[in-house]
Amino acid sequence: TGAHVAVIGGGFGGATAARYLRRGAPDLRVTLIEPAERFYTCPFSNLYLGGLRDWDSIGHGYDGLRAAGVEVIHARAEAVDTAARRLRLAGGAELAWDRLVIAPGIDLRWNALEGYDAAAAEIAPHAWKAGPQTQLLRRQMEAMEDGGTFVMVIPGGAYRCPPGPYERAGMVAHYLKTRKPRSKILLLDAKDRFSKQPLFMQGWQALYGDMIEWVGLDDDGQVVRVDAARRAVETAFGTIHRADVLNVIPPQMAGGIAADAGLTDASGWVPVDPATFAARQAEGVHVVGDAALASPMPKSGFCANAQGKVAAAAILADLAGQAPPEASFANTCYSMIAPDYAISVAGVYRVEGGAVAEVAGGTSPLEADAGFRAAEARHAAGWYAAISADIWG
Ligand code: FAD
Repeated sequence: TGAHVAVIGGGFGGATAARYLRRGAPDLRVTLIEPAERFYTCPFSNLYLGGLRDWDSIGHGYDGLRAAGVEVIHARAEAVDTAARRLRLAGGAELAWDRLVIAPGIDLRWNALEGYDAAAAEIAPHAWKAGPQTQLLRRQMEAMEDGGTFVMVIPGGAYRCPPGPYERAGMVAHYLKTRKPRSKILLLDAKDRFSKQPLFMQGWQALYGDMIEWVGLDDDGQVVRVDAARRAVETAFGTIHRADVLNVIPPQMAGGIAADAGLTDASGWVPVDPATFAARQAEGVHVVGDAALASPMPKSGFCANAQGKVAAAAILADLAGQAPPEASFANTCYSMIAPDYAISVAGVYRVEGGAVAEVAGGTSPLEADAGFRAAEARHAAGWYAAISADIWG
């Protein structure tokens, strides 16, 4: 038809949409805009911290997408004009589009925790976007003395990967138990409960004894101030905790280009029609992945992948003058607690009355033997290989 679809962001959501647009319409012109030549996944970055995976194994290039006929431009999109249907790249080049998919992931809310800004993150890494931050955190773990304290600050509200901090705790514990067994992990949480909590707590206790201490909101777990230079944090009630390694996961919002394009609401995220992931605030624009408001779907790579497929199908139908197919979504989040011990949560979602509804779901059983947990660890590896191949392969 001669239509051109541009996709901003070559992560879980954007790269999926680009591939599935081409798969559904082999003649469609699809351009993917992503600054990185190699994308490092947050999924399994905790395994890298724990020493279960090497760095290269979580990186993916874009040759697979090129082979699928996607035109890939390695640049940052700097501005989007939704009325004129144009966008501008860093460097000044402009691109016209007929439909646009935006999947920029998250940005960190600097100074939402007093004192925690981009400079502080160079001392107290968040490691919540996989890349140099993740490698910095790992180097700090390596440099820490046996008997040191690893402090993690965990946000409330909507954030990328609800079970991610707790998986990280187990992976850091695995690393410390095998190399620096007198060390401690302190989790300071702005919530009073968390994803898969009984399963995590059971696993931590069984594998690491009292190495991991979790302090929730009700017990003064909420951090309000960060002093990165001193590696210290202060809680809402004024308690000061000092760390040898300080990992601060701050509150988050949709990747900046979504706000620049005028697509976000007061929450900092993008309201969408869940049947198509079309942005509510502009015509012809779809937003998928962490940037979109799609609760009760979690902000996961699995969901971003499912949403990318739904958006691609809706765009293809629209370009063909048809109604979009009925959307459905699935999610599974595996969390590794040790090399042969994983737990999971799964959900199936549909659109009911214009909103997302969870129609089925559950977690691993609390009562399970070692063989069951080991099988889930194998399933996690299988999931990672399969979704990586589906997106970048
Ligand atoms: P991303 O995958 O982050 O991709 C966004 C891309 O957009 C980036 O490549 C970025 O460079 C690009 N971009 C941003 N702005 C621009 C711009 N202006 N121009 C061009 N490009 C731009 N999910 C799971 O399903 N399973 C897991 O086991 C899991 N584990 C996790 C563990 C950790 C520690 C963390 C932090 C997250 C984990 N997640 C997991 C969540 C998962 O990483 C995210 O949900 C997923 O990456 C969201 O996909 P996305 O496409 O929205 O964003």
